[in-house]
Amino acid sequence: MAEVRLENISKSFGDVKAVRNLDLTVADSEFLVFVGPSGCGKTTTLRMIAGLETIDKGEIYIGEERINDLAPRHRDVAVVFQNYALYPHMTIFDNMAYGLKRRKIAAGEIQQAVTQAAEILGITNFLDRRPRQLSGGQQQRVALGRAIVRKPAAFLFDEPLSALDAKLRVQMRAELSKLHDQLQSTMIYVTHDQVEAMTMGDRMVVMDQGIIQQIGVPKEVYDHPHNLFVAGFVGSPPMNSIVCELDTDDDKVVLVSEGLRLPLLPKHKKKLQSYGKKKIFLGIRAEDLHSDPAPGNEHSLTIEMTVEVVEPLGFETHLFLTTGDENLIARVNPNTDPIAGDKLTITIDMHKIHLFDIDTEASLLSA
Ligand code: ATP
Repeated sequence: MAEVRLENISKSFGDVKAVRNLDLTVADSEFLVFVGPSGCGKTTTLRMIAGLETIDKGEIYIGEERINDLAPRHRDVAVVFQNYALYPHMTIFDNMAYGLKRRKIAAGEIQQAVTQAAEILGITNFLDRRPRQLSGGQQQRVALGRAIVRKPAAFLFDEPLSALDAKLRVQMRAELSKLHDQLQSTMIYVTHDQVEAMTMGDRMVVMDQGIIQQIGVPKEVYDHPHNLFVAGFVGSPPMNSIVCELDTDDDKVVLVSEGLRLPLLPKHKKKLQSYGKKKIFLGIRAEDLHSDPAPGNEHSLTIEMTVEVVEPLGFETHLFLTTGDENLIARVNPNTDPIAGDKLTITIDMHKIHLFDIDTEASLLSA
């Protein structure tokens, strides 16, 4: 177990800047999740830590050791990939023991390590089988077991659950979190699935275009996105965003767009003092648009909106709404049953809104 430190790491492939000036410390025993859209540079970052990709610029340390020039097998990290890459002709026991045998570990010690890992992962009964006799989920457990027996300083996971079906993925997600609690190892996990990032990570790193957009505890990132990209990427459905003009009504600052005229709270006004009549992005999470009779407080505003589409998901319903030219999605109680064409009174709690600069797209409300 160890801290993993990346200092000013960059990597290009020809003209493509895959990772740009990345600085990050993964604490000892932390579960850190990299998340971002396809091509954002998360896999390249992981591969540089594993030694599977060269680094153009910067330093990588595991504990106090600089590992830039160490061959992958000397880095004391174990990588678990999406495809399990098990040897088909070997038994499960031999697949798990393979790395230890190559390192000439004593047979008794190997036996003990494999047995222990198999118990943790619930695959003790499969040790004599071959990979093709196991399901996808069981094979993924074997791939995990092969990593565990090595007792590495850090585990690196590259989308390890994406080949599994939805139900198994949910189950394995919980098992991996449990495994982290048991082993208390440093784990770095790459995914494009924000549910995995939200539920598994002690912290999540949101990347886009080779740059870290935000690092934080998942709930903190969800509640206080630092920019419009993070606001749109983290959360499903994504945060509603509307271009508004700033105007004034008496002593109040109001946000104006086609179909909206929202007076802001004093706390917003303070942040917007220097904005004049510049445009601004208003962000509202789908769950902060309420169709029920208002959860009302003095900060609530109501707006008439038209229902365009209703998507009942069982546990919640998504309403696609319009007001003027604006389209918004609301996440509402599944027992409300409006139909397309209905006019609804939607309540917005103005305490929950987000504001972003129109040019930099940076949040004007988070620190
Ligand atoms: P995905 O979720 O699709 O795997 P990612 O976020 O992991 O995406 P990377 O695989 O790190 O993204 O790729 C970052 C960028 O670098 C992409 O534009 C990709 O096309 C490019 N890239 C990655 N590997 C190579 C390579 N070996 N040769 C050329 N370009 C590459």
